[in-house]
Amino acid sequence: MVSKGITILGASGSIGVSTLDVLARHPERFHVYALTAHSNVEKLFEQCQQFQPRYAVMVDPVAAAVLEKRLQAADSDVVVLAGAEALDAVASSPDTDYVMAAIVGAAGLLPALAAARAGKRVMLANKEALVMSGQLFIDAVREHGAELLPIDSEHNAVFQCLPSDGKNGVEKILLTASGGPFRTWAASDLHDITPEQAVAHPNWSMGQKISVDSATLMNKGLEVIEACWLFNLPAERVEVVVHPQSTIHSMVSYNDGSVLAQLGNPDMRTPIAYALGWPERLASGVAPLDLFTTARLDFERPDMARFPCLQLAYDAHTRGGYATIALNAANEVAVKAFLGREIGFTDIPLLVKDVMQQASAGTPMNLDDILIQDEESRARSVSWIKNKKIH
Ligand code: NAD
Ligand code: MG
Repeated sequence: MVSKGITILGASGSIGVSTLDVLARHPERFHVYALTAHSNVEKLFEQCQQFQPRYAVMVDPVAAAVLEKRLQAADSDVVVLAGAEALDAVASSPDTDYVMAAIVGAAGLLPALAAARAGKRVMLANKEALVMSGQLFIDAVREHGAELLPIDSEHNAVFQCLPSDGKNGVEKILLTASGGPFRTWAASDLHDITPEQAVAHPNWSMGQKISVDSATLMNKGLEVIEACWLFNLPAERVEVVVHPQSTIHSMVSYNDGSVLAQLGNPDMRTPIAYALGWPERLASGVAPLDLFTTARLDFERPDMARFPCLQLAYDAHTRGGYATIALNAANEVAVKAFLGREIGFTDIPLLVKDVMQQASAGTPMNLDDILIQDEESRARSVSWIKNKKIH
């Protein structure tokens, strides 16, 4: 068996760490070609020592210099590169076969696209990239013969439950949602939620941004858009089902009345191992599901009145590509401001709605137009926050 070279974009994060955990179980199948992080020197140093990649990329140049010194002092052969352009280089190098796209937010778009354009197996965790670029990303995958495998647990579950041609008899996708930490809270209590409460997810351990997105249900909204692109379906055929136990990771409903579901413990190593091994299955380290401990599977309709971000995402997708870029950009700025205690939890959907409504009509045809809309929407979001502070 020829060992596959792996690049992990966002190696220091939650998905990056889980990916390395799975890779460490299969040293004969995979070797790490490159690891990247924004600025977490400590984590990347430790990962470089264990996995000996050819390259380590630090987006922050100061952090890159520190990492390089530490690796030299440890007699390491790992080559350190600095800056965002180096992400594209390691994502598209002929020496990497698979690319894990696990940078958070819009920063992950360009390197994920570089991997697609270089015809790699792209293991996509970074949902924001697809929400921003939609058809452009899907076209790049097709044109360059790349493989696009979803890592997001819901989409990975759907991928596992779809027929081999991706469409035969498929009526609907049922995306499950845990409902987040505030699922049972009264609307009047949402106002005072703190960042600490919002990042404490009941079932999954994840990065800060996606944890806040799960609490507002924006995560599910982004996932609806992601599902439309990945599985080539209109939004009416992607339905959200709140399922607090997170045991069913999503379902596919067929025209003969069958509903296929993928179940498992909530641990991202399962979808990661599936994407790494596909079409084979690999051991992931995840314990088998104990249905007797799980005991119950509950389902509810999502409450879009208490959690308006989900409806906003459906609306943005209906309006077109510029609106989904604005939705994503405004949400990124809003979540950061919420974590920094500049705005409240219930300000997030207000800000997103305002900025989304100012987006141009239609869908951008090229990358420049995407990046311009992203930048404009971020600037509008920053002004929104400033205005709110003045009033
Ligand atoms: P995280 O915050 O734990 O890690 C983010 C990674 O991105 C880190 O390695 C960080 O160094 C890097 N990064 C941050 N800003 C960057 C920038 N400007 N340039 C380059 N690199 C940058 O996040 P996470 O929870 O691992 O999530 C990563 C992505 O995967 C997100 O898009 C998230 O929505 C998606 N995802 C995560 C989970 C999960 O369980 N954690 C599940 C499904 C999807
Ligand atoms: Mg998910």
